[in-house]
This record gives sequence, C-alpha cells and structure tokens, in this order.
Amino acid sequence: MKILVINCGSSSLKYQLIDMENESVLAKGLCERIGINGSMLTAKVPGKPDYVVEKDMPTHKEAIELVMAALTSADHGVIKSTDEITAVGHRVLHGGNTYTESIVVNEDVKKVIRECFDLGPLHNPANLMGIEACEAAMPGKKNVAVFDTSFGMGMEEKAYLYAIPYEYYEKYKVRRYGFHGTSHMFVSREAIKFGKLKKDAKVIVCHLGNGASVSASIGGKCVDTSMGLAPLEGVIMGTRSGDVDPTILQFICNHEKIDVNQMLNILNKKSGILGMSGVSSDFRDVGKAAAEGNKRAQVGLDAYDYRIAKYIGAYTAAMNGVDAICFTAGVGENDKECRKRICAYLGYLGVKIDEERNNIRGEERVISADDSKVKVMLIPTNEELAIARETLALTTK
Ligand code: ADP
Repeated sequence: MKILVINCGSSSLKYQLIDMENESVLAKGLCERIGINGSMLTAKVPGKPDYVVEKDMPTHKEAIELVMAALTSADHGVIKSTDEITAVGHRVLHGGNTYTESIVVNEDVKKVIRECFDLGPLHNPANLMGIEACEAAMPGKKNVAVFDTSFGMGMEEKAYLYAIPYEYYEKYKVRRYGFHGTSHMFVSREAIKFGKLKKDAKVIVCHLGNGASVSASIGGKCVDTSMGLAPLEGVIMGTRSGDVDPTILQFICNHEKIDVNQMLNILNKKSGILGMSGVSSDFRDVGKAAAEGNKRAQVGLDAYDYRIAKYIGAYTAAMNGVDAICFTAGVGENDKECRKRICAYLGYLGVKIDEERNNIRGEERVISADDSKVKVMLIPTNEELAIARETLALTTK
C-alpha cells in the first residue's frame, strides 16, 4: 500500500510517496513559487538524478497535477497510475477546538479547516487548497487531515486555559493548542519503543528547529506543550520570541508608533535568536559568531538553553517525574553542543550525558550514560511518516 503525503505552504507544496509495506520513501519532491513567476517542481527518486520541471503553477491544483505527472511518468515515475495510491494524508496546521485526532476529509472537515483560517492564516488556506486539488485530481480517493494541533488537544483544562476572562474561550475558543503536534506525537511514541520504556512513560520532547517547542506526555498523550494559541508562545526560536510579557506590546507600540499587527510581525519574524544576536536566525551562524567572541550571540545562545532547561524543569514538575528527554529537529538532531549545554542544567534530575554517544547527528540513539537516572535520546523526527501512518490507519480500517 502506498500513501501520498502532502504538506502545502502558501506558495509551496512538499510531497512524499511512502510504501507502507516497509515504510520506505519511493519518491519525494517540492513545488516552489506556486502563484508566483518562475514556479518549479523538483522531484527526487532514490538512486536517480533529480528531475526538475519549470512550469507555471498558478494554484496548488496545477502543482498537484504536475506531481501526479511526475509520479506516473514513464521515465522518472515510480507508479503506473494514481490508482496505486491508497490514500492521501495532508498536514493541516489548525483543527481548532473540534478535532482531537486525524480524520478522513468530508465537507464538515473542510468547513472546520476554513473556520480556522484566522487561527492559521498562513497555513490553513494553503492546506485546504491542497486537499481540494487532490480531490479534483483524484476523484473518490480518500484524503486524511492530520492536524498539527491534535496532539495538544490531549491537554487538560488547567494546562490549556489562559487566565483571561472565560468568555474569550467560550466565544472565540482562545486557548492553548500547541503545534509541531505530529512531531511530538511521533517522537514521544518512538521514544517509548526505541528506548524500551514502560507504556505509560513520562517523556519530554524538545523539538528544536527554526520553530521550537517542548512537550510533556505520558504514554504518548500530551500533558502540556509550550506553544499556545499560535506558534509564538514558549521557548526562544530562530525568529520568534517565545514567551514575553504582553505589556511589551503596548509599550513598544506606543514608543515606536506602530500597531499591534506590526508588533506581532516583529515578535514572529525579527525576534528570537535573530533579534537577540543581531547575527542570524540560523543557529550555525550564531554559534560561529559566539565562538568568535560576539557577546550578543553568546547571550542569545545562553538564553535559548536556559529557557529550554526551565521548560524541562516545569514539565518534570507537571508530570511528577520524567523517564526520558528527547531531542529532535534541525538543532536538536545536529547540534551536540546545544544538547550538552541544556543537559548540564539537569544534574539535579540525575541526567548524565555520555559524550561519546552524544557525538552524533540525525541518528536514533540513547545519548545518556548507563547510570543516568533519566534516559536522554536523539530521535530524528519524521512528520511525513507519522502522517502516512495515521492516513493508513484511518483508511484501511
Ligand atoms: P524548520 O522545520 O522549523 O524550518 P528545521 O527542523 O529544519 O526547521 O531546523 C532548521 C534549523 O536547524 C536551522 O535554524 C539551523 O540553524 C539548525 N541546524 C541545522 N544543522 C545544524 C547544526 N549542525 N548545528 C546547529 N544548528 C543546526
């Protein structure tokens, strides 16, 4: 059985075709500049050179058609016809307060995705376009929506409610949702399997990419997660501030004569490690600058580690213990120094990193010492595979 996984951004479409017999990637690719001049598709098939098509893609519909043509092409394709695709799984950013799990798409599901446009203005419209493009290109084929917010829907009220007038929750569903849910779900479950932990293990996952979030889960069910109504809350990220005192918004708006939308743009795009260091949002650049003596870069990195360590401490308290701490995503998978610095805060938990085991990148591995009281692991995230597994489970029941 083959599952097609689609991840649509506002001007991009990423796809993977996964053979679920052995969970191998048969083909993957990226459509860029959809709706912009110079759109192109880059298709990759293992063992073959990249196949690039430069062709106008005014909407996601044309992009999906090109992807189908690439997948079924006699020269570069991997399937004879789209009949070989069992179902399509779509990454959808926001499922609002309605969906706690992935679901087979029907008109009601599309309505909810549409209703969440204001909660996910950049992603939800694109996600819906991707679904509708697949419906048009492959009539009758089942599409599954896998929401980035589903994992966070496992939180209890005490974790997801903000201490603001309750009417805003009732009227507008203002609450904490959490994001990177597919990654947190995948990594926390994988940690239990790979780390041979008990079924109801208490796991903290640090998803440290350009966007970053930390989650606490028991037996793979979310207890708490650091992002909130939108992906701005929580730890320090590449360009996002994470937690701030909301008074800052009013204070800066008044002084700089800007409005709240401009302020939010600053908090989303010009803050985080970029804003603190003034160097870059890429942790490699900031690390290099710090090593060369750039003080702001060093303080940025120190603050980044410190905030993550604080979240780990808070989540350990929230769960009354922790069995495993996992690192994943761009920084978490590649930056051994960052993992080491964060774990240096956790001596009180009996966390001990094994330097030699930690000397790896992007590989599933226990990186703590045998006598560490908490297992520390590197678990590479694989959101596409998680989406494919959800899609298969829902469409072949
Ligand atoms: P996203 O999916 O949120 O865009 P990724 O998970 O791909 O992000 O992570 C991208 C980030 O990973 C970049 O900001 C980059 O700085 C960081 N990164 C990648 N490799 C390394 C490395 N070797 N050391 C430190 N950071 C790295």
